Amino acid sequence: VVLCLSAAVTEADYVKYKDPKQPLRVRINDLLSRMTLEEKIGQMTQIERIVASPDVMKNYFIGSVLSGGGSVPGPKASAEAWVNMVNDLQKGALSTRLGIPMIYGIDAVHGHNNVYNATLFPHNVGLGVTRDPELLRKIGEATALEVRATGIPYAFAPCIAVCRDPRWGRCYESYSEDHKIVQALTEIIPGLQGDLPANSRKGVPFVGGKTKVAACAKHFVGDGGTTDGINENNTVINMNGLLSIHMPAYLDSIKKGVATVMISYSSWNGVKMHANRDLVTGFLKDKLKFRGFVISDWQGLDRITSPPHANYSYSVQAGVLAGIDMLMIPMNYTEFIDDLTFQVKNNIIPMSRIDDAVKRILRVKFVMGLFENPMADLSLTNQLGSKEHRKLARDAVRRSLVLLKNGKPSATPLLPLPKKVPKILVAGTHADNLGYQCGGWTIEWQGVSGNEFIVGTSILTAVKNTVDPTTQVVYSENPDANFVKSNDFSFAIVVVGETPYVETFGDSMNLTIPEPGPSIITNVCGVAKCVVVLISGRPVVIEPFVDKMDALVAAWLPGSEGQGVADLLFGDYGFTGKLARTWFKNVDQLPMNVGDPHYDPLFPFGFGLTTKPVNN
Ligand code: BGC
Repeated sequence: VVLCLSAAVTEADYVKYKDPKQPLRVRINDLLSRMTLEEKIGQMTQIERIVASPDVMKNYFIGSVLSGGGSVPGPKASAEAWVNMVNDLQKGALSTRLGIPMIYGIDAVHGHNNVYNATLFPHNVGLGVTRDPELLRKIGEATALEVRATGIPYAFAPCIAVCRDPRWGRCYESYSEDHKIVQALTEIIPGLQGDLPANSRKGVPFVGGKTKVAACAKHFVGDGGTTDGINENNTVINMNGLLSIHMPAYLDSIKKGVATVMISYSSWNGVKMHANRDLVTGFLKDKLKFRGFVISDWQGLDRITSPPHANYSYSVQAGVLAGIDMLMIPMNYTEFIDDLTFQVKNNIIPMSRIDDAVKRILRVKFVMGLFENPMADLSLTNQLGSKEHRKLARDAVRRSLVLLKNGKPSATPLLPLPKKVPKILVAGTHADNLGYQCGGWTIEWQGVSGNEFIVGTSILTAVKNTVDPTTQVVYSENPDANFVKSNDFSFAIVVVGETPYVETFGDSMNLTIPEPGPSIITNVCGVAKCVVVLISGRPVVIEPFVDKMDALVAAWLPGSEGQGVADLLFGDYGFTGKLARTWFKNVDQLPMNVGDPHYDPLFPFGFGLTTKPVNN
């Protein structure tokens, strides 16, 4: 009798979903069969860190938390502080009846960009220039290590938008106007997640081990094709156009096992993507066999209607029925939970749809090993901003710059510059400003100004590091012409450009460089021999100034390792980059992409001068 009893107890205690030896499908179905509606809807809910607490995690069965482009737990918080913050919330999730781990997500879009001391890689617009999948894979690997160093297993990257109009405020998040370049650079996904096992079927999400993170291909689909480049607007294009320009990179991402896909705020031919059942369920899930989970964008449900949140019940219904599995709410989670609960209880939204969503979310969590290893430790904290990663970023900078002009007609080329001269001027608002060098999505959502919150090398510092010790480097943020005249500079390096912006704040119909940039160019280049290093997230209006310059370099948003810029200017390495975007003459030409019938650019797609490395 005693023996029998103990056997019975063991059997009752045995929980299939907790057993890593059980097949994935068995674990998922077992867990799902134990879940209440409340627990299921909790899994579908992603809340913002600022409203999360261990109690909230526990009481609402919350499935996911995000840091939305902000500096929680603080702009200079250590990796340890991040790990502790994430673990605290995880403890809340694990203390529920079924102990389902939550998954924490963050925008790590050019390195781990919300975190102090992280390596900040060039933004995608620069990486597109390199056209190098292997480099992107390495950047993915480094980024995954730095993200995991802070206890976070999920990055909302890569953005695989094909930006067709530089007036779009997110153009710099796009690798290229050419979908083939974007497709090739989805190689960042296996870098972030690990390689899909050889026998794995297409569409199956895969994240291998504690040094990897779940990736997120975003924003599905057509985000880079909106009319006039207006953010979150309507993309007017026929099915062929959508399939041949904006869709291909999703096919590659799915083939490579991308774990999640984020829906775009934009519409396709007037239908909000967040409510587009044909594309989200019919195409992405059914036709392409994507088996990871689909996540909404930030308040994506609210924005199904205009004005946002005009009819929330309708939005919840439209979004969930379209096929979105995890909803980035991110603040008013009780409103969402109550609404969705009501709609399921009243058969407006079928339980089968909820089950599909929850299975997908659980699948990713199981695949990632979160059930076995939910808690982060401090073993990776030394990865943050490591020497190796900074070296990789510096190399990426060298290969992402494009030399657009080198010498006035019939004059000798200005670059590479000699290291040993009496006196050089480094001028401009962007010469000693790491915040500007890194652009948007850096420490703060909209980016920062200055050197306080970013560990790295400004271009000014890089120049000083590079020149001969006898060369005098004079720095002026905003010099006037008299200052330049009264000095006898051998030449000048002018660093100007756009100031940081994100999303709609970056939409620009005129694409001019803000003052004092143009004045600095005029003041300096009118007097001294000059190379202009342009910091920008996209091609900008430059034609009126080009004649004044001796040389022009498009440096995009190079990130924390400004040394890579000086490496090229002074010839330690040669320029190799070729434009992955068309550089227009004036905004009236836009949109203008390679292959267009009236293609008449200032610098065509693929253009880029080269220099050879020198010993000087
Ligand atoms: C952006 C997404 C981002 C999300 C979370 C949204 O505003 O469109 O790209 O992943 O915020 O921060």
